[in-house]
Amino acid sequence: MDAPTSAERTVYLPSMSDHAFTVAAAMRHFGVRAEVLPPPTQETMAMGLALCRGRECLPCFLCVGDLLQKCRAPDFDAKRAVFFMPTGTGPCRFGQYNVLQKSILTQEGYPEAEIVSPSTADSYALFGADPVGLRKLAWQAIVSVDLLTKVLHEHRPYEMVEGSAAAAYGVSLRELVAAVQAGGGSAVVGALSRAARRFGDLKTDRAEERPLVAVIGELYLMLNAQSNLGVVRAVEQAGGEVLQGTFSDWLHFVDWRRKDLSLRFRHYRNFVEGWISDTYQRWIERRFTIPLRGVIRHPPEAPIDEAMKRLAVCYEPVLGTEAVLTMARTLDLARHGLAGVINVLPFSCMPGTVVSCMAPRLREEMNGVPWLDVAYDGQEETNLHTRLEAFMHQAFQYHHRVLRAS
Ligand code: SF4
Repeated sequence: MDAPTSAERTVYLPSMSDHAFTVAAAMRHFGVRAEVLPPPTQETMAMGLALCRGRECLPCFLCVGDLLQKCRAPDFDAKRAVFFMPTGTGPCRFGQYNVLQKSILTQEGYPEAEIVSPSTADSYALFGADPVGLRKLAWQAIVSVDLLTKVLHEHRPYEMVEGSAAAAYGVSLRELVAAVQAGGGSAVVGALSRAARRFGDLKTDRAEERPLVAVIGELYLMLNAQSNLGVVRAVEQAGGEVLQGTFSDWLHFVDWRRKDLSLRFRHYRNFVEGWISDTYQRWIERRFTIPLRGVIRHPPEAPIDEAMKRLAVCYEPVLGTEAVLTMARTLDLARHGLAGVINVLPFSCMPGTVVSCMAPRLREEMNGVPWLDVAYDGQEETNLHTRLEAFMHQAFQYHHRVLRAS
């Protein structure tokens, strides 16, 4: 029997966040069969842990579990399966996830299952018959979910009818998925305009301004509500409002890094490619922000190079890794009047640990704002909620005594 063609294969994306649904839709627009795997659970994590050595990071064994759960489904056909697992060239373990996962799949009896790994080295160039078109549409997919998430975070804490913001978000996300699958562009603008009307119609009570808490840190953990134990919702339930790091910021950072290193090593062609990609990305961001102007109060994040200038007073940005982005963005977000910062990190995460070590210096730059590091090891019984209570008490004090007095 002939090997399945690429059109007969299905690309499976890990369910890191809702971005996976719109990115899968972008792939389907280009004729790639794409499905999102179910979100991680304690059961899938146990599957992953059983096959890892125990020294890997939490996102690694969560993704291994997600892959294996799919492989062990009765209707699974390894010859027709492609797992989507981006990679990176930095000094941390992210660059080795796909290598380990391929070896585990082979060892578990699924050697034909492929892993496709777009890399930070090529700014996540994608695949298929039109990889540039797919990359552009995937960018639209990512930015639109980031913007919709911001709208949700700005409304949910103030909703007067419990669940109304989440319901508006759910409908809007489904419309975004359809709009991206239809090719993006004006279809996404239309979906975002309808989302703006939906959120604008919500009954909210903003009489009491809530303390603003930045939730930043390692990308997977920061965005994956299952593995971070719903930290955003927990802050909201404790009386705060969240400003969360975004997926698109990571991709801007990858482009910034590519341009910075290209200039240092005189790879001018690489620099120009990075510049073109950045220009397109910024244009899409501006275009998609317009319909949401009435429902987003907080100003947009500063461009990466500006954020890096803020960081340079206390840490050298060229050292790279996600730590640089996390710290630079936190200093930038402080302009919004933060009353607290929560740094989420997988247990033993290298960039996350750098950020924790730098926290006292960063806090000096941010007028002593309360700071909480939360290291996750996948155990449900972390004392997150007790620690969050104490932290939110400090955030309220800071909000009333420092921010309001200034
Ligand atoms: S960023 Fe942290 S959690 Fe992610 S791969 Fe690197 S060390 Fe692991």
